[in-house]
Amino acid sequence: MPTGTRVPTVPITELEQSEFCAPDSLQTRPLEEELSANVRWQRLPRSYMRMSAEELDERIAAAKARLGTDLVILGHHYQRDEIIKFADFRGDSFKLSQQAASRGEARYIVFCGVHFMAETADILSGEEQQVILPNITAGCSMADMAPSDDVHDCWEDLSQVVGEERLIPITYMNSTAAVKAMCGHNEGIVCTSSNAEAAFRWALQRGRRIVFFPDQHLGRNTGLKLGIPLEEMVVWNPFKSLGGLTPERIRGARLILWQGHCSVHTRFRVQQIQQARARHPGVHIVVHPECTMEVVQAADDNGSTEKIVRVVSQAPPGSIWGIGTEINLVNRLARENPDKTIFCLDPVVCPCSTMYRIHPAYLAWVLEELLEGRVVNRITVDPETRRYARVALERMLQVT
Ligand code: SF4
Repeated sequence: MPTGTRVPTVPITELEQSEFCAPDSLQTRPLEEELSANVRWQRLPRSYMRMSAEELDERIAAAKARLGTDLVILGHHYQRDEIIKFADFRGDSFKLSQQAASRGEARYIVFCGVHFMAETADILSGEEQQVILPNITAGCSMADMAPSDDVHDCWEDLSQVVGEERLIPITYMNSTAAVKAMCGHNEGIVCTSSNAEAAFRWALQRGRRIVFFPDQHLGRNTGLKLGIPLEEMVVWNPFKSLGGLTPERIRGARLILWQGHCSVHTRFRVQQIQQARARHPGVHIVVHPECTMEVVQAADDNGSTEKIVRVVSQAPPGSIWGIGTEINLVNRLARENPDKTIFCLDPVVCPCSTMYRIHPAYLAWVLEELLEGRVVNRITVDPETRRYARVALERMLQVT
């Protein structure tokens, strides 16, 4: 049990978030120039650092063609366009991992996303398949906020406080394989932003309390949808002894939320929604449930990335959409739906800084290394972690 207060650390990705915020648009520059923004990305051989966007384009296309069916490239919705155009599949993290598992003939899965996604792909893919993350430093600031040692400490502390009463751990997909395994090991489950409600319902039928990692906002928004009042929710601060709570507060809670957040989705504000409504009468506001409770409640609708793509794509021509999610996806939706007005609620163009780390130079490098018979930046999950993480993931599939 932690006895003192540790010094809070701010993940580097949080600091980096503002480095790529721009008042207008995002344009990929040679990697060397992007690295000058004082970021700590993986270094590459110098030739890749200086290549222009056009040269990288040609080299990626040529390498992809030569690798043929040995290769599948997965592109998360939040990736840059220069990456997405080479993706065999695009989607959210779970959909992409399922796609990877269904492409058994592909020996190499290049996951253009972040580290926890590549881990999940490794867990769900076949023994013969190798998962590659083009830039090894592409993490996720939210997943980084729940290191497994701290999660284990929290679990032990809570188990001691509530004794025999049943605790059910749920982790969001956006967490490390080790945290997923902890949930699998303790009769818990994984959820995505699409099926969080179903996972919470499943858990509430089995125990008195849910412990949710690592996004407090998705947890709070989901708890409220299921009728759990705010008074029965507490936030566990991993930097404080007993999460900064008293045993009485813990015993009175039905939902214990890990103090984590997404640095992209917490940028959205109620005031931005009010301004959008004033400027665009009839606008539909849809936001991601990683946004704060106030933003979710002020919006017309909320849902996963996949849901946002679906509702906006199926909307009638002429409709107007103010969207609260990552800018690369919003810009792409606007381009692919020219018959609608689509804009991001945040006027400052601010990509997910870790997704943004997959610069095309990294994709060119990993593919050309494969052509030379070298697998670089392979992501593997150890067998024990894999086994229990898979239990929690399969439980999710049965429930939802
Ligand atoms: S958008 Fe947020 S949760 Fe998603 S990868 Fe980026 S930091 Fe992580």
